[in-house]
Amino acid sequence: MLRFFNTLSRQQEEFHPLEEGKVRMYICGPTVWNFAHIGNFRTFVFGDILRRYLKFKGYDVTHVFNLTDIDDRIINEAAARNISIDEFTAPFIQYFWEDFDALGNERPEVTPRATHHIQEMIDIIAKLLENGHAYESDGSIYYRITAFPDYGKLSRIKFEGNITGGSERIDTDKYEKEDARDFALWKLVGENEEPGWDAPFGRGRPGWHIECSAMSMKYLGETFDIHAGGQDLQFPHHENEIAQSEGSTGKLFSKYWIHSEFLKIDDVTMSKSKGNFFTFRDLREQGYSALAIRYLLLSVPTRKQLNFTFEGLQGAESTVERLRNFRQLVAEGGNPNGSEGAPSPVEAAVCTALERFEAAMDDDFNTAAALAAIHDLVREINTTLAGSGLKNEDRDAVLDAIVKFDSVLGIFGAEDSTSLDAEIELLVEERQEARRNRDFARSDELRDLLSEKGIVLEDTKDGVRWKKK
Ligand code: AMP
Ligand code: ZN
Repeated sequence: MLRFFNTLSRQQEEFHPLEEGKVRMYICGPTVWNFAHIGNFRTFVFGDILRRYLKFKGYDVTHVFNLTDIDDRIINEAAARNISIDEFTAPFIQYFWEDFDALGNERPEVTPRATHHIQEMIDIIAKLLENGHAYESDGSIYYRITAFPDYGKLSRIKFEGNITGGSERIDTDKYEKEDARDFALWKLVGENEEPGWDAPFGRGRPGWHIECSAMSMKYLGETFDIHAGGQDLQFPHHENEIAQSEGSTGKLFSKYWIHSEFLKIDDVTMSKSKGNFFTFRDLREQGYSALAIRYLLLSVPTRKQLNFTFEGLQGAESTVERLRNFRQLVAEGGNPNGSEGAPSPVEAAVCTALERFEAAMDDDFNTAAALAAIHDLVREINTTLAGSGLKNEDRDAVLDAIVKFDSVLGIFGAEDSTSLDAEIELLVEERQEARRNRDFARSDELRDLLSEKGIVLEDTKDGVRWKKK
């Protein structure tokens, strides 16, 4: 049974989706004003592990992952360059997906952009105005925190004495808890100013928080299963999303909330503003593989902080190399003369590893323990390979287990069957050449070599055919 920590209840809970067999989840995506750094990708790779593990457990997953293509920073950067916000964000959207794909993440089902959902935001704001959860002031629209008594239920920040009942407001998208005040839903924009959209309550542009309420509820319904994002989004972003959504629908917004801890560097949170960051591209240019970066990012459970070091990344590089070689060795390692019929210790080891893997992931997505189960299996099978070798069924059982682990983690690399096939073709061709030259000793040698790799040769009238035993 899958259990994980729900920020809303501050407890580990058993996971029960609203609708049997289906999971609807929303993860806050990047603000596309620059390259995403590997801290951002730690959170997004966890999002990928989450979706893949839910699928592994048999759920039908709808995963919505938004792109924030309008916020204070984007508007300022575009204005500084004298270009539209679309022109400014287009390359960063492209770079983002390139990096996202290169890191082996599966594309979510829906990847909405904020600027394409302005009408949905306007509709929610209109409802909030109607039911008294929002008000107009100086042409902008603000959320009235005192109208939502549950405000603070996610972040558990005590706001008493802090909330002034509408006399103070905040316009910036990001702010600290000391600034817990009525926040902007819709910001007044002048007639000729861009970007701006017409709304019944005046020309303006949306605040940051309203976009996620609009995009999540549009694609997942008013109540859905899981909402996730980085730790820093708990307040104010997610707190405000709850206030807006529940304030407008009167229903529970998301049943479970998951927050990822930060990637740190020298014990300081990696961030753009501190300048202590590496992008995915920085590390690729230094020669590190995408697989190693992915491995490093997922190696520590998401609710624990991860300190980035180059030694750690180097270690991840060796580990993924070892895993890739292991898969290759196993694929080539079938031995038809293995002790048929005897109860196989390999089979038992595979079963144990799969059980340990699932138990670890069921336990609040404990990727560290899941990886330990994999590494223990690798060690055991390597010993078998160095000794009596693997029976064909055992080889297949190990390969199947790798496919299962990798459907969740994606750390073994692509199954390189094409290069394996090419290598076999070459050996078959070389044997043909030896036969044409009447070098039968060499031809027999090559047949044996191929047989060791589990390949049988058949002479047909169209030439030699090969197949895997
Ligand atoms: P942003 O593009 O600023 O909206 O951030 C995208 C996501 O990255 C959010 O979920 C943040 O919480 C997350 N994030 C930002 N910095 C880090 C970090 N150092 N470690 C992990 N996640 C982070
Ligand atoms: Zn969001």
